[in-house]
Amino acid sequence: MSHPRGPLAQLRRGHEELVLGLLRKHGPLSRGELGKLCQLSRTTLYDILAGLVAGGAVVAAGPQDAPRGRGRPAETLTLNPEAGQAIGIDFARRAVHVAAVNLAHEIVGSASEPHDADLPWEQRVDLAERLIGSLNDGGLRLGALSAIGAGVVGPVGWPEPEDDPEPEDDPEPDEPAHPVQPLLRERFGAPVLLDNNTRLAALGEAIWGAAAGDRDVLYLRLSHGVGGGLVVGGALHRGAYGLSGEFGHITVDPDGAPCDCGGTGCLETVASIRAVLDAYRAAGGRADDVPELVKAIRAGDGTALTLLEGVGGTIGGVLAAVCNAIGPSVIVVGGELAETGPALIEPVERALRAQVMPVSRHRVSLRRATLGEAAGALGGIALVLHESPLLSRYPAGPDLAPDLLEDIKRRQP
Ligand SMILES: [Zn+2]
Repeated sequence: MSHPRGPLAQLRRGHEELVLGLLRKHGPLSRGELGKLCQLSRTTLYDILAGLVAGGAVVAAGPQDAPRGRGRPAETLTLNPEAGQAIGIDFARRAVHVAAVNLAHEIVGSASEPHDADLPWEQRVDLAERLIGSLNDGGLRLGALSAIGAGVVGPVGWPEPEDDPEPEDDPEPDEPAHPVQPLLRERFGAPVLLDNNTRLAALGEAIWGAAAGDRDVLYLRLSHGVGGGLVVGGALHRGAYGLSGEFGHITVDPDGAPCDCGGTGCLETVASIRAVLDAYRAAGGRADDVPELVKAIRAGDGTALTLLEGVGGTIGGVLAAVCNAIGPSVIVVGGELAETGPALIEPVERALRAQVMPVSRHRVSLRRATLGEAAGALGGIALVLHESPLLSRYPAGPDLAPDLLEDIKRRQP
């Protein structure tokens, strides 16, 4: 599928989507069966099919070369399992994570690679392209790519009213500005939907992960940054200017350390990876990264356990306050620091239960995230498949391949 603009191109695109939707729903169909179901003229249908076959979205199977005659089985058309329909990319602070789904909405794979925090955007896009090229053992075809859903760090909004030259003419902003957006569009030749990467992780967990099926979800990610996302009443909450879910910048110590956001004593200054490792080393511990910290905890290191008890208590207090404000049924905790396990999660839970309004105490379920580092990329795919940057009132997620989803979950520690 190509992506030219204009009414005719849009009409063609609509016909392509119609045919692909029928093949997704019914499985392999003959041209005759497709013709009855789609109600397009024979000429139009054959033209659309020729384009889809040429682009690699659809493959023909059957006795094309068999002699003509009565009883000859008809050639059938089917979705190409190697054709990617949507790509999700999570541009985290120090890593790129990618995932893709094919035209049947099955996950064809996910991949990740860490990088330095100051890697330029061009090279991050290079890295994303290389990771996408490795999916499906390098067999993923992008001729039928419908769009890319990409997550980036920080708030992703659209121009403020005074910066928008024609706000009345364009009340549906759908392309927030970010340097990575034109780079991706140029590299992959497909539209790019952009959102905050942590919010996309919340979306992924709420559709396919730890909070699948829940309609009111608070997601907290403890990583190089601390952030989160909210699903309220079955819809991802974006907030004005895309600023919803910045739990990492709730003040926990007015006399605390300065924060990257410009504030002071934010949760991020005590509960990010760097903050925790710095505090551990200041207390005499030795760990350069989270896996080393996890090792120390497993060895029963008292300094590490005491530190995480305090950090967990602070996190639990923030969660209790947010809980009282929005009333979630599920809290999901993800990010690398969650890999410290019960040493962190148990004090989080104790503080949460102690400080949340008593009536909520046993109604909120606290869970570890299950999609791991793929969550944000999967959320990007969800953004594409539902074709709404806001995803307000998104229904149950599309039918992703359960086996691959299980595989992704199994690979998490
Ligand atoms: Zn802050």
